[in-house]
Amino acid sequence: MPYIWHYGTEEQKQRWLPRLQSGELVGAIAMTEPGAGSDLQGVKTTAVKSGNGYVVNGSKTFITNGQLANFIIVVAKTDPSEGAKGTSLIVVETDGAEGFERGRNLHKIGMEANDTSELFFNEVKVPGDNIIGGTEGQGFVQLMQQLPQERLNIAVQGVAAAERGLEATLAYVKERKAFGKRILDFQNTQFKLAEVKTKLTVAKVFVDHCIGLHLKGQLDAATASMAKYWVTDIQGETIDEMLQLHGGYGYMNEYAIAQLYKDARVQRIYGGTNEIMKLLIARTL
Ligand SMILES: Cc1cc2nc3c(=O)[nH]c(=O)nc-3n(C[C@H](O)[C@H](O)[C@H](O)COP(=O)(O)OP(=O)(O)OC[C@H]3O[C@@H](n4cnc5c(N)ncnc54)[C@H](O)[C@@H]3O)c2cc1C
Repeated sequence: MPYIWHYGTEEQKQRWLPRLQSGELVGAIAMTEPGAGSDLQGVKTTAVKSGNGYVVNGSKTFITNGQLANFIIVVAKTDPSEGAKGTSLIVVETDGAEGFERGRNLHKIGMEANDTSELFFNEVKVPGDNIIGGTEGQGFVQLMQQLPQERLNIAVQGVAAAERGLEATLAYVKERKAFGKRILDFQNTQFKLAEVKTKLTVAKVFVDHCIGLHLKGQLDAATASMAKYWVTDIQGETIDEMLQLHGGYGYMNEYAIAQLYKDARVQRIYGGTNEIMKLLIARTL
């Protein structure tokens, strides 16, 4: 929705926003391809002008909502001879779209509740007014401007998930006993959880700062990247420590900490890997 809201023509907003809001349209954003993830300038999917519209060809992978979405924003080259400047965001409404195919719902190590899929576009005809903003070649800039919000979102989830982990761990170590004492009574447990609490407090303060900047329209790419990479690293680190305090029970799916551990891993990968975040920060040095 943010792409339509910020860049859509008035006609596109009228056409899509109410149906996205009601849930009649379920959205997905398809950037990643089997051969291009971090390096989005390398996307091979094309949207070529044909008559009044475009014909889309290519394949995407790892697309969240891929099994459910019927409104897919596809990152495609409208001018394959150009890199970023030849990239556009084109909407494919998939209901009844000939040549559109969903691949596997990929089997992940965590985040089982959301679907992540391959998508195939084989000569899919798309109306000419489905390029977001109505002008070709704006896609890269649109992505670069909207990705900070997605990255901030990931950081917010990171803090929230780790806080949930702390809550679950505290409940566990107050209950479980070894050597006649509660696990919480060991100084090691107290020190580990003191560290976790400190890290999460610092992370939350920084994320709150970023939310403040975002609300004022001042969250730049580098600062959003700091939040995404640093908070998700902290999330992974703290949840791992807290799983350890559960002993063998922490490795069992029925314990909340096990699910949090599995779900945390991908946070350092999607939305731009943490290495790419560091590249973006490094450009401002
Ligand atoms: C669960 C899940 C959901 C996802 N949802 C979506 C979605 O909805 N839409 C979408 O478009 N994509 C989605 N993705 C894809 C995700 O954004 C990509 O996986 C991610 O951007 C990395 O791309 P890649 O997998 O091709 O890795 P690659 O780009 O092949 O990277 C491999 C490794 O090389 C490193 N690397 C690459 N380039 C550099 C460099 N210049 N310097 C240093 N290191 C580098 C990376 O950091 C990484 O460690 C999802 C992925 C997952 C796992």
